[in-house]
Amino acid sequence: MGCLVCGETEFTDLFATKDHLVSGESFFVRRCTACSFTFTADPPAEEEIGRYYLSEEYISHSDKKQTLTERLYHLARRYMLGRKHRMVTAVTHRESGTLLDIGSGTGYFASFMNKKGWEVTGIELNAQARNDSVTRFGISVLPPAEIKAIPDRSADCITFWHVLEHLHDPVMWMREVKRILKDDGKCIIALPNPDSADARWFGDRWAALDVPRHLWHFTPATLSRFAGNQGFKSGRIRALPLDIFYISAMSYRNIGCRLPLFRGILTGTLLTIASILRKNSASSLIYELSKQAARDL
Ligand SMILES: [Zn+2]
Repeated sequence: MGCLVCGETEFTDLFATKDHLVSGESFFVRRCTACSFTFTADPPAEEEIGRYYLSEEYISHSDKKQTLTERLYHLARRYMLGRKHRMVTAVTHRESGTLLDIGSGTGYFASFMNKKGWEVTGIELNAQARNDSVTRFGISVLPPAEIKAIPDRSADCITFWHVLEHLHDPVMWMREVKRILKDDGKCIIALPNPDSADARWFGDRWAALDVPRHLWHFTPATLSRFAGNQGFKSGRIRALPLDIFYISAMSYRNIGCRLPLFRGILTGTLLTIASILRKNSASSLIYELSKQAARDL
């Protein structure tokens, strides 16, 4: 199979990295020699990958607030919801509208946006997460196949918060995004950044590689090229400031270091200071895409 981004067929293996969360298996991260796009080599097929998500932590994001980590997690989530909301309004120049959240999980973001006046639909693979969103927040959440039933040009904004890197067929998803988005609508994609300061620091031990659940490791350059191929114009790139602490702490924990949270916060702080002048060095980046007008194509 050719490269997802450029179609070329020559690759080199960069390094092997381990699935610390569930299986303990190792996978190679492979790079296209033509365009430098990196991806997880030989991942489990879509029908078989379900078992690699069977972790307490992945379903996670429970509402326990006992440990310091859990408390910090809840504080961070509250902060991030506000930040994502501000980002949607800034990118779309709208205070309300229709929003489709792909990979809506347990529905926190969808519900938050709904309370802020947006009409929100979620798409979620996990049936339990879909049920939770409906019973808890009253949000309408559809299974992935039902995206086909969403009308053309009906959304002002479509969001993928750390989701695109999990999808086996991102081309199909971007085709649906293009169909569903209004002509002046915006697509927001948050992704881990393999060019980040923490990715360089941790190398093959960077927790956000998260193999084999993360299939694609987009950088600003490869995401922009991929989006262009799918008929999108790339706009501003923004940072998700807290992810470096979380990812650094996870990376230390995976390696078996003591006091991973403390070390993660320390490393995150030092790396943030050290790379303050480097563009797009944040652990996670948020990409803003618009539909290319027919005349641009
Ligand atoms: Zn390529």
